[in-house]
Amino acid sequence: MTDANAPAACAALAAEGLSDAPLRLRNLCKRYGGALVVDGIDLELAPGRCHGLLGPNGAGKTTTLRLALGLVGADAGTVELLGHPMPAAAAQARRKVGVVPQVDSLDPDFTVRENLLTYGRYFGLSGREIDARVPELLEFAGLAGKADAPVQTLSGGMKRRLTLARALVNDPDLIFLDEPTTGLDPQARHLIWQGLRRLIARGKTLLLTTHFMDEAERLCDVISVIDHGRVIARGSPRELIIGHIEPHVVEVFGDALAEWKVCAAGLCRRCEQAGETLFCYTDSPERVVAALESRPGLRYLHRPANLEDVFLKLTGRDLRD
Ligand code: ADP
Repeated sequence: MTDANAPAACAALAAEGLSDAPLRLRNLCKRYGGALVVDGIDLELAPGRCHGLLGPNGAGKTTTLRLALGLVGADAGTVELLGHPMPAAAAQARRKVGVVPQVDSLDPDFTVRENLLTYGRYFGLSGREIDARVPELLEFAGLAGKADAPVQTLSGGMKRRLTLARALVNDPDLIFLDEPTTGLDPQARHLIWQGLRRLIARGKTLLLTTHFMDEAERLCDVISVIDHGRVIARGSPRELIIGHIEPHVVEVFGDALAEWKVCAAGLCRRCEQAGETLFCYTDSPERVVAALESRPGLRYLHRPANLEDVFLKLTGRDLRD
């Protein structure tokens, strides 16, 4: 397709209701018992991009992933995975999908290579085909030289990276990642991020759920914030920050907080107290910082607003279990 033809071809596809979106969810709904845990979610992934799903515990993220993969049936709405209707064509669609589940499901009694072989066979790959891919997969996951290591001897970070390598055994076009770095140390997280960036650079599409806002900010082109089974905001990390929050935050703590709270109300656009800290959201941090300088009973931290501020504003500070 030439560039000149592209807009016309896209318009034609759109008119037919088709697209090259690796995943399309339309008005997706799922009930458990009496509760609507996924409540009309629309989502369309762009090829070669990373789309983040952020939401507090119980928001419906994992259920959305399971619906998308055809692991559970929807009560309403449609799922199209790599062009296939789900769950009717699940087996066909999943051939080019990789999954990194929240909890590692590696076989502890097998070696690294044996885990890859067993998993690859689910996709109908021969032992020879998988063997040929093993060095590349292990190199990608920073596990070169570990092919014959028993899984039980690997560290947590290594196991997580092996789970990522395993998800790539069938050379998927679309990869679902459910909290891929939970429980890892910063070194291991950075290694996983490098790997995920390389996948995006190779044109793979990623759907990522995470509780780490810095991870979402680093990796995601688009983020859907989900709460109570609904998408409550969507945009690039930058768009979400600009659209939902004041540009500066001054976090204030110390003995004189009660007095400062009264003063801050007149200086800042919005203030929120969480425990011993007052979060002061403002367009003009200079005024706030100048006022704080003359108050020796207070300490403060001035920083740019980030995705976590947006997340907390949209979903609240109350604990979710
Ligand atoms: P998240 O991944 O955002 O933490 P989930 O999709 O796991 O949220 O869960 C959304 C809601 O659905 C929660 O209230 C959870 O308890 C409920 N839920 C999830 N799976 C089941 C299930 N198999 N049976 C009953 N309730 C479920």
